[in-house]
Amino acid sequence: MKTGLKERQRNIFVHPASEMPGSQYQVTSIKRHHSLYSLTDSSDAGPEDEAVSAPLHLTPLEKLNTDMCKDEKTIKDLIIGRRVGFYKVRGEIGYGTFSRVKLAFHALTKDKVALKILDKTRLDSQTQRLLSREISSMESLQHPNVLRLYEVLETPSRLHLVLEYAGGGDLHSKICNEGKLSDNTSKITFAQILSAIKFMHNINIIHRDLKAENVLFSSSSCVKVADFGFSTRVTNRNTALDTFCGSPPYAAPELFRDECYLGPLVDVWAMGVLLFFMVTGTMPFRAETIGKLRRCIIEGVYSIPPWVPGPCQRLIRGILKPVPTERCAIDQMLGCDWLLPVEFPWSLAPPEPVNPLQNLLDSECRDMEEEEEEEVRGSLEELGFTTEHLLNNQPKDIRSPVTGVYRILQHRAQKSRGCDSLPVVRGMVRDPKREGLRAYRGLRHTSKLCVLS
Ligand code: AMP
Repeated sequence: MKTGLKERQRNIFVHPASEMPGSQYQVTSIKRHHSLYSLTDSSDAGPEDEAVSAPLHLTPLEKLNTDMCKDEKTIKDLIIGRRVGFYKVRGEIGYGTFSRVKLAFHALTKDKVALKILDKTRLDSQTQRLLSREISSMESLQHPNVLRLYEVLETPSRLHLVLEYAGGGDLHSKICNEGKLSDNTSKITFAQILSAIKFMHNINIIHRDLKAENVLFSSSSCVKVADFGFSTRVTNRNTALDTFCGSPPYAAPELFRDECYLGPLVDVWAMGVLLFFMVTGTMPFRAETIGKLRRCIIEGVYSIPPWVPGPCQRLIRGILKPVPTERCAIDQMLGCDWLLPVEFPWSLAPPEPVNPLQNLLDSECRDMEEEEEEEVRGSLEELGFTTEHLLNNQPKDIRSPVTGVYRILQHRAQKSRGCDSLPVVRGMVRDPKREGLRAYRGLRHTSKLCVLS
């Protein structure tokens, strides 16, 4: 007996993640070959009648759902891991301590993403805790210079973090391969890292593993701070922490010296080391053993090459101070002489809290948020997502495929409005696209970057 499309769709149905124990995808399937997820609109459910009910035209979502349970090649790809959920997996990008990172494409939106794949059997309780912090920090961070997390996908043996793809490599490899950055490139790169860290600290997230390897580029100079595995959320910025995290060459002296430390000041120190590395191509503290490195850092002895411009030298000295509370605050860094010629895109530099333009800007921003929301909803509809899919989806459920598509489309809409635009150094050729920038949602209420013009 033939099976109608509606019947086939009923045979494989993923419950909204919110209804599932442990917030995992749960496939209820009569023919359960593999772990996949699929979406159906329950309004499709009706009496089995192939001739009457088979629609002439399937939406992309319906086609994908059908392929995932009917098409032999798609099913095989799902079994061998060439597909995970709605993502088509391609080549290897890199390796971490507990993960492999692969390039992938969303089967519906066609956007490129990076899949960070973790083998669940290798995750002890400590690693699981770090991972859940990584997920929780990334979920809260929507900033142009922080790598986006779109979705988390779980199969019986693996966990997949679906991340924004940063195809421009990392800062460490860039400097190792091409040498130190020019003064202007250092300014543009450092300004973006500062912007990201200021945003994080404003919502009490501490990175704790800032290093050149964790600064990725989505294009040749657009920075994405990545790897939140050691991050933590504190109740306030004076919360004392006591876990040693991060990479020793970037570690602040108090991490070796004291019983506890203040998170934001440890991130600030690491930024000083990063800045030194960017402008000189070498590390300020070097030693053959960890013991010697530790001594070097505690003594705070380093020398800045004389050819580093004076304002940059002053900034490095202001950051790399052995006494944590004497270190430059982020706002001071943003206002320092060295960064004076840097103009942040308007999107990165929200207006001061109260000024006569505030109401106008607020309403302009609300209009833009609505416009963006409409654009995303329109694209979702074109792909075949119904109002019911959206209503069933918990808005913040990072383990839902609807959230994955939503976040990818939302990021795409934000990028088309210039949210990934770069700061510029006055005197450099301006990008005309930047001129039309508007305030970027999510930064407005939390960041007080000054407009350095
Ligand atoms: P991780 O496990 O985060 O240390 O990542 C391992 C390697 O994969 C890194 O060194 C990066 O080169 C690469 N990588 C990680 N995330 C991404 C991404 N979102 N886009 C591109 N490459 C990435």
